[in-house]
Amino acid sequence: MSILEIKNLNLGFNIDEKFYPVLKNINFNLKCGKIHAIVGESGSGKTISCMSILKLLPDNTKITSGQILYKNVNLLELNEKAIRNFRGREIALIPQDPMTSLNPLYTIFDQLYEVVLLHYKISKKEAKELIVSTLKKVNISNPEQRLNNYPHQLSGGMKQRIIIACALLGKAKIIIADEPTTALDVTIQAQIMHLLLKLKNENNVSIILITHDLALVSQYSDEISVMYNGQIVEHANTGEIFYSPKHPYTKALIESVPSYTNNRKIEPIYGNVPSIYDEINGCPFHLRCKYMFAPCKTINPNLKKVDNHIVRCHLYSNLDY
Ligand code: SF4
Repeated sequence: MSILEIKNLNLGFNIDEKFYPVLKNINFNLKCGKIHAIVGESGSGKTISCMSILKLLPDNTKITSGQILYKNVNLLELNEKAIRNFRGREIALIPQDPMTSLNPLYTIFDQLYEVVLLHYKISKKEAKELIVSTLKKVNISNPEQRLNNYPHQLSGGMKQRIIIACALLGKAKIIIADEPTTALDVTIQAQIMHLLLKLKNENNVSIILITHDLALVSQYSDEISVMYNGQIVEHANTGEIFYSPKHPYTKALIESVPSYTNNRKIEPIYGNVPSIYDEINGCPFHLRCKYMFAPCKTINPNLKKVDNHIVRCHLYSNLDY
């Protein structure tokens, strides 16, 4: 069962009185209690897709069509005041840099107490007990002492745990984790990902994991959408993507990651993701694709159902999805 659905989302930026498309016909389903990863290189549209869920978009954004449905509400139709009832409460964001969410001027207690005040009718003493028990759940050591710390006194991993504690206290149903471990050491990365997995399993939280790290998604996600140039080019469950990738870009992403279990050579993906200023004819990947053939230069393929995958590529003659 889906908890969140993005339907036919198209948006772009107005720059110098010209409109530049950024997201093109995005369809995305987040299932209850699952981790759905969105992968792709920088500039592929992963983050902007997820920021559109919270309506945290630049002022020059123009949404030309689409719906984002959560609890039968189209989030795109909500005004700023109404979307705040969802942001941070129902739908929480774990950013790459936790300092974009934590206020450097307030102690950890002050910041978590603010969340408690929004969600619980309890005394300050009870609030403190709740906060301490939540900090224990996210593996913060000596939580009582940490309450008086300011964010700059904590390590990167601890700050991410505080953000996760905020989501727990706010009883978030959905967490959008935007490259949540990129700035962390490998051992801390694993701890944060295990924590998210625990939240999913114990609290039935549904998670959108935005990342370029395929090793991470192979271990933690249930399904994967691969994005390129503002489009989803392949979607399938995680096992299908890794054992039987269909789209040349998905294959290239997998081949560009070192493997320790076999002697596969690392194959870099040559060239760059097109920018929004580039006018592209045909398949946006054709200049980098080793399977490119005549129609790729002129026709952008539609999505097709291929086995258990949804794929946007001319290599497959299946009917449009
Ligand atoms: Fe490659 Fe053509 Fe498929 Fe695009 S449509 S990914 S260029 S084979």
